[in-house]
Amino acid sequence: MRPELLYPYFADIEALPGIGKRTRAGFERAAGGRYVDLLFHLPSGVIDRRYRPTVMEAAENSIATLEVDVVQHYPAPNKRAPYKVVCRDDSGDLTLVFFHARKDWLLRQLPEGSRRLVSGKIEKYQGKVQITHPDYMVDPATPDDLPLLETLYPLSAGVSLKVLRKALLQALSEVPSLPEWNRPDLIEKENWPTFLDALKSVHQPESAADVAPEHAARRRLAYDELVATQLALAIVREESRRKKGRSLTGQGHYVDAVRALLPYQLTGDQEKAFSEIVADMQSARSMFRLVQGDVGSGKTVVALLAMAYAKDAGVQAAMLAPTEILARQHLASIASVAEQAGISVRLLTGRIKGRERAEILQGLKEGTIDILVGTHAIIQADIEFADLGLAVIDEQHRFGVQQRMALSDKGKVGVDVVGMTATPIPRTLTLTAYGDMDVSRIVEKPPGRKPIDTRVVSLERIADVAAGAKRAVTSGARVYWVCPLVEESQVTDLAAAEERFESLKTLFPERVGLVHGRMKGPDKDSVMQAFATGDLDVLVATTVIEVGVDVPEATVMVIEHAERFGLAQLHQLRGRVGRGGDKSTCILLRSNTVSEVARSRLQIMRETEDGFLIAEEDLRLRGSGEILGTRQSGLPEFRLVDFVAHSDLIEIARDDARHATSTVWFGKEGERDERRREALRHLLYLFERDEGVRMMKSG
Ligand code: ADP
Ligand code: MG
Repeated sequence: MRPELLYPYFADIEALPGIGKRTRAGFERAAGGRYVDLLFHLPSGVIDRRYRPTVMEAAENSIATLEVDVVQHYPAPNKRAPYKVVCRDDSGDLTLVFFHARKDWLLRQLPEGSRRLVSGKIEKYQGKVQITHPDYMVDPATPDDLPLLETLYPLSAGVSLKVLRKALLQALSEVPSLPEWNRPDLIEKENWPTFLDALKSVHQPESAADVAPEHAARRRLAYDELVATQLALAIVREESRRKKGRSLTGQGHYVDAVRALLPYQLTGDQEKAFSEIVADMQSARSMFRLVQGDVGSGKTVVALLAMAYAKDAGVQAAMLAPTEILARQHLASIASVAEQAGISVRLLTGRIKGRERAEILQGLKEGTIDILVGTHAIIQADIEFADLGLAVIDEQHRFGVQQRMALSDKGKVGVDVVGMTATPIPRTLTLTAYGDMDVSRIVEKPPGRKPIDTRVVSLERIADVAAGAKRAVTSGARVYWVCPLVEESQVTDLAAAEERFESLKTLFPERVGLVHGRMKGPDKDSVMQAFATGDLDVLVATTVIEVGVDVPEATVMVIEHAERFGLAQLHQLRGRVGRGGDKSTCILLRSNTVSEVARSRLQIMRETEDGFLIAEEDLRLRGSGEILGTRQSGLPEFRLVDFVAHSDLIEIARDDARHATSTVWFGKEGERDERRREALRHLLYLFERDEGVRMMKSG
């Protein structure tokens, strides 16, 4: 239950002045509809209006505030000409310029003969000093109407800055201060304000420096968000550690049999990951390990060996995949080797029903099935294992804590869990995303991979690219054709993909398929299947091409409007090709009007295929704020942390959270610091990191 003190933080912003239904809807889409969402919407900068020159001193292009007398109005002589108001101080004339002006309104704002404070950007035009559309024109008797330091916010659909600022000030005045959850020594060392004061100083800065990420207030807020996240991770981790694990050991007979059947040697990184897994399985504590490796780095065989080791130790293993097609693919890639090694493997997905399902359930219960591969279907309540010892979770970020736990709960005692992910994450972020797991990294690629020839081509040459694709298909290649991602509109997304689908059909009659996000699972799967088996040569897709889908014959990847994709996404998409022995090509089609950053992104794609390096560059280029395609990477959402400026805080937060977890959270009643425990509970709920924790409590 959310602590009562936090209720005002979660109140609806519609209660605030100036925020009606429409504004609320706009802001909710951009950030959320509650006070916290507003309060955590940090300024992107400030406008400093403290420069107070005379008219003649005022520097061109500066933001200045001037005190002037209104001399005379010159209404616009025609529709296109501006309305002008000439003002004056002792040094000279200032002309205020208005387009599409409403005369009545201007006469009221600027009565001739009155004195006004005006603020805006100084322009010099034909020797005259002027301001076009001043931001403020106020009576000097009420100077408070003109904020000298004005916060700027990332734009959010339908919400004006004025409304946003006003609502924020009101919200800040309504929310209560909260108990201090941070360590006193850290607060003192960093000279941090309290949580509420930090929020106030960020939204009501006294200088531009107050909103900079390096400022104490910003650092404190970032730290709070980091600690909340780390605390939730640490609590879940500690809970699962407390569950009794068991030491799994075996002779290695089945592992050896599998190894002997592999047509290749493991790479050094694969060996290392496998031995780390074995060490965890042998240990009496339960394993919670993530194998992080780029697409094609060979994680599946590591999982297979771990499952063979489980068989050696006399327990069953389960492998969970996010989609039907990936589950089937895993089955296809491990079944034959496993069966030859004497390990029985079965597949269970939502589509397997009736007699077959009943038979699988029985085999699991009796222990005749050693490895179960499947989708969510394998965590359903009626699935029972004779003795589940190991759970492998592929694309683990696509599953919630809940699903992870549901699977491991199918074991009698602490099931060992291995997660796998192909989403490379910068080193600094690994802690944040996976602070609760031990990590094995597979960096080295299996030998013999041919580099992918990546080219950046102007969209104007799309016809040449299509012709090139045709030639490639004639010599046996298969082609992925990814259509532009259109922000905020799946409908336009689809329209673009459908249009491309139609136009490619004329070039490849009967040989083009289309997949998109609005298709039903089975329909999508059957198109993908047709592409995988070679019944189709070209697959047009919105970005839904599943991570991990393996079609070795696909050697051409075309991405339209590549500049609209993030680096991580481009990398994932490119990873769909270059999986067979043949040379692959990736064509990044870009429009001619792209930003500097987009240009650098495409450049990086041309220069490297190293996912970890790409992830680091991605972070550097995006800098703060909108971190990585958050949902894609499995990172929790961060609103206050700037992962470049605040990277030094991540480790401190992790250590802090772990220490607090063992002493304050799980400490013995009577011995632990109840006041801090209560404060930390507020922190968890404030940042909505309570989900995992709550779940643990309910069992
Ligand atoms: P990931 O799941 O990490 O994207 P996979 O496990 O699907 O990658 O492996 C990609 C391909 O590389 C598979 O065809 C697999 O058989 C092959 N492979 C894996 N390890 C090696 C190795 N050490 N040497 C050669 N080929 C390998
Ligand atoms: Mg895989």
